[in-house]
Amino acid sequence: MSRTITLVTGASRGIGKAIAKRFAKQGHFVIGTATTDKGAEAIDEYLHDSGGIGRVLDVRDQEQIDKLFEEIESVYGAVQVLVNNAGMTQDGLLMRMKDEDWDSVLDTNLSSIYRMSKRAVRGMMKARRGRIINITSVVAQMGNAGQSNYAASKAGVEGFSRTLAREIGSRQVTINCVAPGLIETDMTDELDERLLNSMLDAVPIGRLGQPEDIAAAVSFLASDEASYITGAVIAVNGGMYM
Ligand code: NAP
Repeated sequence: MSRTITLVTGASRGIGKAIAKRFAKQGHFVIGTATTDKGAEAIDEYLHDSGGIGRVLDVRDQEQIDKLFEEIESVYGAVQVLVNNAGMTQDGLLMRMKDEDWDSVLDTNLSSIYRMSKRAVRGMMKARRGRIINITSVVAQMGNAGQSNYAASKAGVEGFSRTLAREIGSRQVTINCVAPGLIETDMTDELDERLLNSMLDAVPIGRLGQPEDIAAAVSFLASDEASYITGAVIAVNGGMYM
């Protein structure tokens, strides 16, 4: 049987790395992306034993997206599982937010999902099967002072996903979101310790989540067991928002 071809963006570290590793362990052929040559080489290294590969990709760049899909499709076959994980924050209160901070977060976190999904669904619709899984955030639903750009981008992805689910469901292609709470990665390392502790007070489970907690939900959504789930948002947040 041929291996499932799985593309994970932002696989150089954090949540994306855990997702790529999990799929590789499950026997998928994984293409993981990073924004730098060094990052792509590191992905190549950790995926080496499973036969997977690392590639450079800036999800803001349509040309790079087209080139990557052309390579994957001509050499390996159509992407069957797409995990849109790459993302960024550029926090600040709205009154002080710079236009470029708004634009870069919306471009990286939301417009990229439009670009990647539009490119991936071609092959999936033809194959009459496929999975798109988008990593959003608990703040899409609950909001967070200082993150109007980030919350808008992630809420946008959830609305986009519900709509695309309606458009492509009849071809047995599903699109879902996993919305993490506070997960221990470089992104949360940047948070001030006092702020982090006060945020943790709102988490019934009482600790940060691990990237592997997110990878487990993503892996379920990609599995045959999840073939009747589409347009859903799975919260993996230790009860931070419910
Ligand atoms: P992270 O450790 O900061 O890693 C971000 C990843 O995204 C890196 O692989 C980075 O690549 C990649 N990336 C950033 N900008 C990119 C671009 N323009 N094009 C392509 N790739 C780009 O983040 P994380 O915490 O693992 O977060 C992963 C996802 O989960 C994000 O969508 C984030 O919003 C979401 N999330 C995280 C948390 C959390 O608590 N950590 C909570 C909710 C949601 P390079 O290494 O090359 O820079």
